[in-house]
Amino acid sequence: MREIYLDNAATTKPLTELKKVYEQYAVQAWQNPSALYAPAVGVQKMLKQAAETLTGAFGSASHRCAFTSCGTEGANMVILRGARKKKGMNYVCGGAEHPCVEESFKFLAEGGAEVRYVRPDAHGNIDPQTFMQAVDEHTALACAMHVNNETGAKNDVAAIAAAVKAKNPQALFYADGVQAFLHERLVDTSNIDYYTVSAHKVHAHKGTGAVFYKSSAPLKPYLVGGGQENGLRSGTQNILGILSFAAAADYFKDLSDADDTLRKLRRTFLQAVGDIDGMELISPRDESKACAHILNLSFDGVAGETLLHALEGEAIYISTGSACSSKKGKSRIARALGMDENTANGAIRVSFSVFNTIEEIGIAAEAVRKHVALLRRYKRV
Ligand code: PLP
Repeated sequence: MREIYLDNAATTKPLTELKKVYEQYAVQAWQNPSALYAPAVGVQKMLKQAAETLTGAFGSASHRCAFTSCGTEGANMVILRGARKKKGMNYVCGGAEHPCVEESFKFLAEGGAEVRYVRPDAHGNIDPQTFMQAVDEHTALACAMHVNNETGAKNDVAAIAAAVKAKNPQALFYADGVQAFLHERLVDTSNIDYYTVSAHKVHAHKGTGAVFYKSSAPLKPYLVGGGQENGLRSGTQNILGILSFAAAADYFKDLSDADDTLRKLRRTFLQAVGDIDGMELISPRDESKACAHILNLSFDGVAGETLLHALEGEAIYISTGSACSSKKGKSRIARALGMDENTANGAIRVSFSVFNTIEEIGIAAEAVRKHVALLRRYKRV
């Protein structure tokens, strides 16, 4: 049976081009990069090159790169081991961040720190002016995600970072870039102290992430031991994961092509389901405020989870996102966006990759149309 995978914000299929990297790793690049003989030094050089490729794709020639195991580790490291912690300082954070960011701040708050959550608009966009009202001369770290993983809302983190620095040059700025990296180009990274990314969201491997950080930004390790990654993360590096991540960055060098393809898919899907009665678009309608690969919408009276399973029956895979959580009622994201119960309950997230085809989008949209109509027939009034 053909499968249509539309859950690319959850994870992505590794590029077939990575087969070359697997072979390179197995034949030539498997030595311990900390060892002193020539083949191992060769591997160390490959890691250095990979770090340069990735920071280059981020848009910086001066940020450093520490490889981690995932985006979650990067966020934990920045917030819990990076930000300065002194009495009387505060932390400013977007109100609809990924749990790895939110839980890290919760941890700081439990330790007595003041954390100020800035509420986004109904689509997940952070208004820079509202954000700046929360920043003051005692702000240690300000944090706003680049692309929201639930709604695809895109924040101008370069502008927010610049505004933070203008108001308080001592404050540090962090952006979670997991959903944005290799999708959104940053023209100015100079005010971003930390930026975290994850390989498995961009057609590379699970188990690899990175923190891009300025040399002036404080950062301490979680893992101590052999001092790998400039002392920031001990443990022998995941060479295969890192080389694959860099190969994916190389593959997506020309972002505008990928962006055009994704925008076409998004528009096609939206157009095909847009006239279904009771459809509400949770993602930003304004394309300049939205990434191209995530679409979040809700169908009145149809539970997102039920629709997900109906589509699963046709081997079409989407997500409810965490806009709704059937066990806990309205989720924190739904609350942060001020969503009513009905919209939250109906929310689905459809997320595209450049490898999806217009034909797949047509089939998936048609299936959505069919199942929404079917499920509504069984709705109790
Ligand atoms: N941040 C965002 C915005 C994400 O979407 C995700 C994963 O969904 C993460 C962080 C965590 O990344 P990882 O799965 O690599 O830990």
